[in-house]
Amino acid sequence: MKEPPVKMLTDSEKERYARQIMIPRIGEEGQRRLKAATVFIAGLGGLGSISAQYMAAAGVGDLVITDRDRVSLSNLNRQILHRTADLDWSKTESARKKLVALNPECRIRPVATTITADNAATLIAGADLVLDATDNMATRLHLNRAAVSRGIPFIYGGIDGFDGMVSSFIPGETGCLACVFTGRSGKDRPVPGVLGPTAGLIASIQSLEAIKYITGAGEMLKGRLLCIQGLDMSFREIHVEPNPDCPVCKELHHEQ
Ligand SMILES: [Zn+2]
Repeated sequence: MKEPPVKMLTDSEKERYARQIMIPRIGEEGQRRLKAATVFIAGLGGLGSISAQYMAAAGVGDLVITDRDRVSLSNLNRQILHRTADLDWSKTESARKKLVALNPECRIRPVATTITADNAATLIAGADLVLDATDNMATRLHLNRAAVSRGIPFIYGGIDGFDGMVSSFIPGETGCLACVFTGRSGKDRPVPGVLGPTAGLIASIQSLEAIKYITGAGEMLKGRLLCIQGLDMSFREIHVEPNPDCPVCKELHHEQ
């Protein structure tokens, strides 16, 4: 990640984040990087419920949270940022309340809108990375295209029943989501069943990837699509390479 502006930590922040600051690969430098970071979270459902909380708890300084929907009863088996009392609230407002309560040090910017091909690049402008917590491939591909055009990393997560997939796409270093899911052209299957823990597992991995990217710690899931099958608890990796015929990379490669 590019060198962030220096943001000093207050005594209260040093105490709040003490248990992660003591991790050698994070330290105060990593914590300052988290404080200076802006993360765009696309979706506040099963995945976003988890990653938004981990980003706020970890001390990401600026969180842009987006969702177009209101909380409904059938969300609550997995979207655990929302409560029964939040039914019919907008998910952005429901999430904002919880995240501010969790960590008032974070700036939370709710954006209640539908992500489209036209607005995706504007929405993610200024973000250091995009956490994909959407529930459909069409929106993911809009965001992916915008992320490639702006040179912003895109951390993909998808869930279906007991299964999930996750990978990190870094412009200039890896292919993009459209390199892997070529031919999907935004068409989705019917809405799948979802278990809360599956969403939690994938969103936790995405959150770890985000923290690693921001702090520079470790190796990311680059060029690797991690596929998790919850029923037999098997984890396997599919090697993914840039696709020379990817329409997004082809068109936007020279703009980077
Ligand atoms: Zn591509």
